[in-house]
Amino acid sequence: MTDCLFCKIAAKDIPASIVYETDRTLAFRDVNPQAPTHVLVVPKEHYENAAALAAADDGLADEVLKAAHAVAIREGIADEGYRLVFNTGPQAGQSVLHVHGHVLGGRSLTWPPG
Ligand code: IMP
Repeated sequence: MTDCLFCKIAAKDIPASIVYETDRTLAFRDVNPQAPTHVLVVPKEHYENAAALAAADDGLADEVLKAAHAVAIREGIADEGYRLVFNTGPQAGQSVLHVHGHVLGGRSLTWPPG
C-alpha cells in the first residue's frame, strides 16, 4: 500500500530501529516505548489488522507470532514473561492500519489494560 507508514518501514523507505527480520516479517522498536522493551512485529505484506491477517490463512499469522517470540528471546524477556498485543479496530485504539503486534516487557505489567 503506497500510503501506509508500516509498509514504508517494511520497504526500508522510512528508517526504523530494526531488531529482527525474516523474508516476510519485520520487527522494529516503537518510537514511543511503553516498557523497557517495546517492539512492533509486522508482516511486510499489508493487512489492515489481525482479523485480516488471520483470514489470509497462508501461514503468515504463524510467522508473525514466531517472530514475536524470537524478538522476546533476543531481548532477553522470554523467560521472565512478556505481553503480545494486537490492537484491532478503533475501539481497541489501533492507530496504524497495518497489523502489528506489540511485544512489551522488561518490567512488571499490570492487568487489565486501560
Ligand atoms: P496502535 O495504537 O496499536 O496502532 O500502535 C501504533 C504504534 O506505532 C504506537 O505505539 C506508536 O508509538 C507506533 N509508531 C507510530 N509511528 C511509528 C514509527 O514511525 N516507528 C515506530 N513506531 C511507530
